[in-house]
Amino acid sequence: MIYFTPGPSQLYPTVKEHINNALQEGFCSISHRSKRYEAVHQQAVENLKLLLNIPADYHVFFLSSATEIWDRCIENLIIEDSIHFVNGSFSEKFYTNLKLLGRTAISINAEPGKGFHDINEIRIPKKSELISITHNETSTGVVFDNNLITSLRKKYPEKLIAVDAVSSAPYGKINFTDVDNLYFSVQKGFGLPAGLGVWIVNNHCIEKAKLLQDLDLPIGTYHNLPSFLKFDANHQTPSTPNMLAIYLLAHVTADFLKLGLKQIETDTEEKASLLYTMIENSNYLDAFVKDKRDQSQTVIVANSKIPVKTINTYLKDFDMQIGGGYGPWKDQHIRIANFPAISKEHVEKLIDALNNLQH
Ligand SMILES: *Cc1c(COP(=O)(O)O)cnc(C)c1O
Repeated sequence: MIYFTPGPSQLYPTVKEHINNALQEGFCSISHRSKRYEAVHQQAVENLKLLLNIPADYHVFFLSSATEIWDRCIENLIIEDSIHFVNGSFSEKFYTNLKLLGRTAISINAEPGKGFHDINEIRIPKKSELISITHNETSTGVVFDNNLITSLRKKYPEKLIAVDAVSSAPYGKINFTDVDNLYFSVQKGFGLPAGLGVWIVNNHCIEKAKLLQDLDLPIGTYHNLPSFLKFDANHQTPSTPNMLAIYLLAHVTADFLKLGLKQIETDTEEKASLLYTMIENSNYLDAFVKDKRDQSQTVIVANSKIPVKTINTYLKDFDMQIGGGYGPWKDQHIRIANFPAISKEHVEKLIDALNNLQH
């Protein structure tokens, strides 16, 4: 079965072999305080830094999921107030969680299927401590404009910028000097089993957490930034981490590095272009995101006249499965993941099948 579902998704082709190796090497039974574990942890961090061009003074921390990182981000980085770009369900969820943790926030909203572009139309209030950006809104297939991130950085240098890159990374072309922290979970673009969140933070974030600590404000118990930093010095985590996932991440990032990020980016764009062209020419699909600048390269969303259930029943014969709509669009949309684990051959096979679907 080829899973074009936007997370969990198709596993990267080398994952099975890496899992087998981890089991054979007994990696899942060793201590998370051992030298052997530390070496793998360090490798995962170094590979990620190389792959994503992460500056040397940024830190890479391992948590359980992106959802957990939302909470840690709120607890460690926001005393009172933040501002959120909301254009779908995931950006909305972070905004909602923030209020549950006793902070105030405002949102800047885009119409469904539309993005944000003009810095002159955006006003960030003085009291907003953090700007939250969802780089790839998985629910609607809208990508955030990287130029706008750069403009926000220039115009509001004193604000922390947090970027959810869950369904774009390793694709995304984000300049790390424009952001203070960026996070993702591994079951989307990295083609791994779910259960690991990666949080990349700079020293402004560490300083902010320490400021909260100095003010006697709670920043959480074990998964707070100063605690992560302390254990990171030994390539460890505060609690027992998902060691298998970190092992797999170390190996899959090594595979990505062999391929090169440039190649991954070119492949992603080529496959996305094939998919958008198919949708354009289809008599039962049309792109949900109309403006080409806003169209995600990694999660392609279309309105469908045929219910996704019918499409997936048909695709079963070809051993393929696509994603349904998210939230309010459950039955009207289809979503197609275009992560690195999906090859051009997979995409061509899917396009052939969808083109031949009679209705
Ligand atoms: C999937 C997703 C999340 C949540 O990831 P979890 O691993 O389930 O915590 C957050 N943001 C975006 C954009 C996502 O696509």
